[in-house]
Parts: sequence; structure tokens; C-alpha cells
Amino acid sequence: MSVKTLADLLDDGVDGRGVLVRSDLNVPLDDGKIVDAGRIVASVPTIQALSDAGAKVIVAAHLGRPHGAPDPALSLAPVAERLAEELGRNVQLAGDVVGQDALARSEGLTEGDVLMLENVRFDPRETSKDDAERGKLAAALVDLVGDDGAFVSDGFGVVHRRQASVYDVARLLPHCAGTLVAEEAEVLARLTRNPDRPYAVVLGGSKVSDKLAVIEALAPRVDTLVIGGGMCFTFLAAQGLAVGASLLQDEMVPTCRRLLEQYADVIHLPRDIVVADAFAADAESRVVPAEGIPDGWLGLDVGPESVDRFTALLTEARTVFWNGPMGVFEFDKFAAGTRGVAEAIVTATGKGAFTVVGGGDSAAAVRALSLPEDGFTHISTGGGASLEYLEGKELPGIAVLED
Ligand code: ADP
Ligand code: MG
Repeated sequence: MSVKTLADLLDDGVDGRGVLVRSDLNVPLDDGKIVDAGRIVASVPTIQALSDAGAKVIVAAHLGRPHGAPDPALSLAPVAERLAEELGRNVQLAGDVVGQDALARSEGLTEGDVLMLENVRFDPRETSKDDAERGKLAAALVDLVGDDGAFVSDGFGVVHRRQASVYDVARLLPHCAGTLVAEEAEVLARLTRNPDRPYAVVLGGSKVSDKLAVIEALAPRVDTLVIGGGMCFTFLAAQGLAVGASLLQDEMVPTCRRLLEQYADVIHLPRDIVVADAFAADAESRVVPAEGIPDGWLGLDVGPESVDRFTALLTEARTVFWNGPMGVFEFDKFAAGTRGVAEAIVTATGKGAFTVVGGGDSAAAVRALSLPEDGFTHISTGGGASLEYLEGKELPGIAVLED
């Protein structure tokens, strides 16, 4: 089975053809301003190459969770503006997804033009469970590019979704993987095919339920599994420790207990915790041993002794995958754990290790903490997609490209 590349499509010729590109431009916004443009920047090469080759480029993307109806706060307007800056070329934004404005604008495109459709999740059919509903939206997207159109799947962050603009449309048009999807898939394949050892995985972030499947899948295959972030408290609770007011998913405690028994020599939990008296940037804070979290206080970061221990493990690794911040890095006071682990991974990279960061917030942390982006072999744009790949699940948006 093979997937066509963008180079194959360019060889076939795209001059004057309508090409629909599904990108992942789901960037974090604060008050309508883009906080981290990483995904936009990562989407530029494919769009640029198509535009340079004379395609009439139509970009489909989503932003946030608009619940299947237009929501002005989730308009792609700031994204279209930023993409135009990155491309150095005008980007029109349609006022709708596949409505009259999108159709009229797509008909008016000339060679090299770039048109962005409005947030594709404004259309409830995008995420419908009903194949026929999604099929109708996919057909409407095909109408925009016309009979000799093509589809380029470049939104790595959404390839684990069976959605109209990701999956169904690929079944209706000649298709290929964009450069971002091809690159991401290659990196993940390298993590699963016989990785150099020691192989260390660092997992953090907020919800343990999101990540239990990946822990189950990876624990038997890695040498070291470091667990920090909000999810470590469910594991600490599984060891019988009191976790105060820290994040805790009670219903997951039995599973965490079993994992700790089964993979005792692989799983490493923090030994000290930075606790706070409130979830706030200016909260009162102190470092306590993992078994000494005071009542009513919440753990917002791993402590310095944990960072030292994790650093020793990570700097010796030959392969590292990191998903999920070690603490609430958005607050300076609780960023040291994430910074420490990230720096250890940068050191490993410098020593020749193959290192991958996956996860939207983890990638944002790398940039927010001003860590060198080339300190990692690869920074993935897709959190959920990379986790599902590593769990061994088939990604519908990639499987559909095979023929
Ligand atoms: P990613 O997007 O990299 O997969 P997640 O979405 O799983 O990561 O989690 C990121 C979030 O987890 C961050 O916003 C961070 O503030 C939060 N977080 C990390 N540690 C804690 C903690 N101890 N308590 C509460 N939230 C935490
Ligand atoms: Mg996240």
C-alpha cells in the first residue's frame, strides 16, 4: 500500500486546477489573538508549493469547537490574515463553508490564488456520525474545486478523525498526502519500527483518561515511562498517597494501580511536587515530597528532585517521545518541571538521540519557554493523532489515502 505524495501530484500537474487542501490551523486564541501560530507555520510549505505551481488553492480548516453552527468568535479570519503574512500572498476568506460566497469565490479564482473556507465545523455535517450527511458536505467541497480537482490531506492533527473534510472527500477526489502529513507519518513510523534504546517516553498534561490507552500500548515497549503533569496524581493516589486538591480521576485509580504493578521498573513518578494554595499565577507555593501533599493544596508542577531524576533518565535515552507538560507551565511559578524535562530532551538530542514532541500544549510550551525548536528532532502538530498512531490504531485520514 502506498500513499501518493505532493511531489506526485505536482508531477501530474496542478496548473489552473482547483486543489482542496485540508490543513490543521486550529491554533490557540486569546481574545481573538493567535497565541501560538505553530500550526499555521507548519501548514505553509504545502499551500505555498501548490500556489507556486499555479493551483487554485482552497483551504479547509477548523477552529475550536463551534458545535455545528456559525460562531463569530471562532471565525478563521485571524488565521487567514496570519496565513497571508506567512505566505506573502493574499488569502481570501469565504463568508461560509460551502455556501454561495464560497462557491462564488471559488469560481473567481485564478492560478496561484488562495481561498480559505470559513471554519468547516460551522457545518454540522463535518463531524456527523451519519455517512450520508458527511458525504453531502464532501460532495459540496468537491463542487468547489470542480471536475478536475484534487485533494491534499495536510492536517496531521485531524487525520485520526473520520470527518467530511478529512476522510469522505478523499474518497471522491484524486488525493495525496501533503508534506506535513508525510513528514509526521514518517517520524511516527520511526518511533514504532525498532527504535534505538534506551527508549524513553514522557507523559504529562491534564487528563489521565486521555492517555491511559497510550500508556497501555507503550509501557511494554519502552525502557522508561516518566509520568508527570496533572495525570501523575491519579497514579500517586493509586499508590495510596493523599493528593490534596490536585487533579484526580477517581475512576481511573484501579487501572493506574494495575499499571504500576505490571510495569514497576518502567514507570517513574515524581518524588516531589510543587504545591499551591490556589490555581493561580500568584498562588502561594512550596515544594513537598510526593507523600506529603497537604490537605486542600494542589500539585501544579513536579519538584526539583524529580526533575533531576527525570533528567538523568532522559539524557541517557537514544529515543524520546514527549507528550504533555509536567506542570501548569502557563504560570511562570509552575513552569520549571516542564522546562527541566524539555532541557533534558534537548541535551539528549545534542547527544544524537531521536526526539519527538507531540501534543498541542507541549509544542506551545517549547515555544513559550523559548526552548530551541531545533533542540528536538521533530515537533509534531498533532497530539491526539500522534497518540492514536502510537497506540497502534489505524488513522482513517491516512488509511483513506492508500490505494
Ligand atoms: P498536550 O496538548 O501537549 O497533549 P494536554 O492537553 O494533555 O497536553 O495538557 C496540557 C495542559 O495540562 C496544560 O494546559 C497544563 O496547564 C495542564 N497541566 C499540567 N500539569 C497540570 C497540573 N498539575 N494540574 C493541572 N493542570 C496541569
Ligand atoms: Mg492539549
